[in-house]
Amino acid sequence: MALSTPPPSDALPLLPLLGGIEAGGTKYVCAVAYDPAKPLLEARFPTGEPRETVAKAAAFFREAAAIHGSIRSLGIGTFGPARIDPAAPDFGTILTTPKAGWSGFPLVEELRKALGMDLPVAFETDVNAAALGESVHGAARGVRNVAYITVGTGIGGGLLGDGRLLHGRMHPEIGHLAVPDLDAAYGKATQVCPFHASCLEGRASGPAIETRWGKPGHELPDDHPAWGLEAQYLAIGCLQLTAAWSPDLILLGGGVSQKSGLIDRVRDELVKLAGGYWDLPPMEDYLKLPALDQQAGIVGALELARRARGKTSEDAPAL
Ligand code: ZN
Repeated sequence: MALSTPPPSDALPLLPLLGGIEAGGTKYVCAVAYDPAKPLLEARFPTGEPRETVAKAAAFFREAAAIHGSIRSLGIGTFGPARIDPAAPDFGTILTTPKAGWSGFPLVEELRKALGMDLPVAFETDVNAAALGESVHGAARGVRNVAYITVGTGIGGGLLGDGRLLHGRMHPEIGHLAVPDLDAAYGKATQVCPFHASCLEGRASGPAIETRWGKPGHELPDDHPAWGLEAQYLAIGCLQLTAAWSPDLILLGGGVSQKSGLIDRVRDELVKLAGGYWDLPPMEDYLKLPALDQQAGIVGALELARRARGKTSEDAPAL
């Protein structure tokens, strides 16, 4: 008796299931999807001690497997600094961080162990993942050269040139671009970065605003002098990116950037600082808010997983 094989059903998805992790310093977001822009299941939990956090992530993917089947590849956008160079012997490791227990933690290796699978893994910074998410599925679709800056508890940025995430010896650290001291004009002297005398993150991150003015940004009214100063600092960061790399588009993301009217002030400041030197597009096309909002990181992580598909751990993910 011959056994017949049922014909493939159109109802069954032909795409492999993707796993994504937005591995933030304060929260982890895990998701599975066939289409990176449409997560099917998602879990969020605070980033705790590393092994406990990895166990929670693995538990999520096991639960998701019971419904959708096993994931075939995994994309991770992590807080940094992290070893993202696939050729490095310690690829997949979190580097020196003040976050307790995480320095030197081999995240990719531990996740593979916890999942019990040697699946392809793409490992990137969280801001690079968000840049990728916006580039493929959000506000930067169809744009060749994109800079994504997030302004929140810290300031970070990802750069995407011709569809590829840009890396150097490490990864970009846009938050630590040097900026001049504009605080003095306001009778202030706030610089919260412990490493640098005057850098963008130290002057313009959420904690810098709160330290300088004694209140978090969301409690400061739209006409507070804080926003004029913030716009000046952010415009300097945008100017430096423009001068050093000349992107087609700069996306200004993160909680602080959402402040009503802030992006218009940054645009005005950038026009002044640019001094007519560059043939820049209209500011509303050059400097924009992201489209995916808080989803950019996880959508980008799923997109990383899609790109890692078909690669083995030996054949390191290349973007
Ligand atoms: Zn710094």
